Amino acid sequence: MLQSFNARTGEVFGNDVLVTSSSELETAIQKAHHAYADWQSSDGETRAKLLNALADAIEGDRENLVKLADTETGLGLPRLNGELDRTAFQLRRFATLAKNGGAFVFTDDPAVAGGPPVGHPPMMRVRVPLGPVAMFSASNFPFAFSVLGGDTASALAAGCTVVVKAHSGHLHTSARVYDVASKAIQAQGMDEGLLQMVQGAGNQVGVALIQHPLIAAGAFTGSTRGGAALRDAARARPRPIPFYGELGSVNPVIATPAALKKGGDALVQTLAGSITLGCGQFCTNPGLLVLQRSDESTNFVLALVEALKPLKPHAMLTKAMRSALDQGTAAQIEAGAKPLLYTPVDEVCPNPYLAEVDAKTFISQSQLHEEVFGPATLIVWTDSVAQTLEVLNTVGGTLTVTFWGAEEESADVQKLVRGATAIAGRVLFAGVPTGVAVTAAQQHGGPWPSSTEPMTTSVGDAALDRFLRPVSLQDTPEWLKNREGRPC
Ligand code: NAP
Repeated sequence: MLQSFNARTGEVFGNDVLVTSSSELETAIQKAHHAYADWQSSDGETRAKLLNALADAIEGDRENLVKLADTETGLGLPRLNGELDRTAFQLRRFATLAKNGGAFVFTDDPAVAGGPPVGHPPMMRVRVPLGPVAMFSASNFPFAFSVLGGDTASALAAGCTVVVKAHSGHLHTSARVYDVASKAIQAQGMDEGLLQMVQGAGNQVGVALIQHPLIAAGAFTGSTRGGAALRDAARARPRPIPFYGELGSVNPVIATPAALKKGGDALVQTLAGSITLGCGQFCTNPGLLVLQRSDESTNFVLALVEALKPLKPHAMLTKAMRSALDQGTAAQIEAGAKPLLYTPVDEVCPNPYLAEVDAKTFISQSQLHEEVFGPATLIVWTDSVAQTLEVLNTVGGTLTVTFWGAEEESADVQKLVRGATAIAGRVLFAGVPTGVAVTAAQQHGGPWPSSTEPMTTSVGDAALDRFLRPVSLQDTPEWLKNREGRPC
């Protein structure tokens, strides 16, 4: 049996939820497998019809869904309404992509007369969907990275079917989203196997799901540890499969003294807001502030302490996350960080945490490189651009780097831009990293440990590509050529 909890009070919420049994898991995967037989060759219009219907369905049940999610996550109604809007937007965006043939884009390579290497037969490079996808929902996005989130939307648009593993942090919300989705699928006269859902502990149900022979790929949003375990399970199969894991990240912010001075109090307030947004429970939370020693940097930090002091984040998603935050901040201090704002008291709502450390200590202490999930930021003091680059290099992989002060080109600025792009999936030159636009140029996924496949993105149009495998067709028969990239 699984239990859900009220995130604000910690009390048990709602009825117990049954763990998916192994025979139920088998049935869910078989259904997804059977539905895939037709869905893989469906046309763009049909895929769009489904995705639009799913968007309409969650909007139609908005009030109930948002209320449930608010109880289970404590994220608040404005945030959850916004997240539901984003989820519907994502579904409709992938509907449009599907309708416009985004999954059927192909390369036509007509024959060239003569022998090799120049001459070749007529060829076309198309893409085929991978098959049923195992999707692991995130705790901190009960809608946008869960049952009908971006992974599900992009997989369905690609012609794959989906088996979702619900997150234990919002079991009833997941069940209701799934119910609403199932009814929408039924109303369209489509196969219920297009979307299936299972529930239970990740290391049992989740591992069994990713290791099932009929599952063709995994899509995961969560911690680096959980993602690594499931990636290893995906690799340990007799036939390993792609595993797209979007993981934790420290998201360094670097800034020139001039930029800090120019940004003034507005910049201080913006950063303080980003650190505490959603109680810091964002994969793009700015967990590291890398500053070169200067009067401007010192003044900025003093002002940041003052700006953070009165901010009172809400309760965390789960008790386990709250204790992980306390352990993470304590471990940083143990590893040599000096606290500037630190209240190790046992309250439901954590206070913001800010600490500082010199670059040498940061580089030598691996504990300081780990994400502390919550409203926690570590300031790293450097003596030079070269040392800032060493710090970035030590981070190794992150979803984002934010660089304030790159407006004027110079050798140092170029070095820092190179250092930032070497480790991040997204580099921002203004604003803060929280907030990830769903758009054509988005890249949400950086080198390890921020994701398992840094060449791919889980947000934006290119998320579709993860679920399509290229195939070259040579001397293609006319009928197949006429399908113009749509699998048969
Ligand atoms: P989590 O503990 O890794 O849980 C995510 C899912 O993985 C859950 O379904 C969980 O199952 C399962 N799982 C965990 N450990 C497992 C294991 N050893 N074997 C099999 N399955 C396992 O993540 P979380 O704490 O809920 O989420 C917070 C983390 O997600 C943060 O690190 C945050 O940065 C990251 N995140 C990343 C992104 C991104 O896009 N990169 C977005 C949002 C959040 P259970 O049901 O048993 O818990």
